[in-house]
Amino acid sequence: MAVPKKKISYSKKRIKLQKTMEKPITYSVCNQCGSLKYMHHLCTNCGYYEKYTAQKNESR
Ligand SMILES: [Zn+2]
Repeated sequence: MAVPKKKISYSKKRIKLQKTMEKPITYSVCNQCGSLKYMHHLCTNCGYYEKYTAQKNESR
């Protein structure tokens, strides 16, 4: 079984974590309703994304 040679010290672990933790959460403004939304995600308020709006399948 593959086992790490040395225990990662507390500081090394924290330094490694910082690289992933420091990424800022990017928000953008929705073109349709103007509310904050995640980049490259559907708008949580109106369901709008890049010319498309989320369609509700009410026929089923
Ligand atoms: Zn919106």
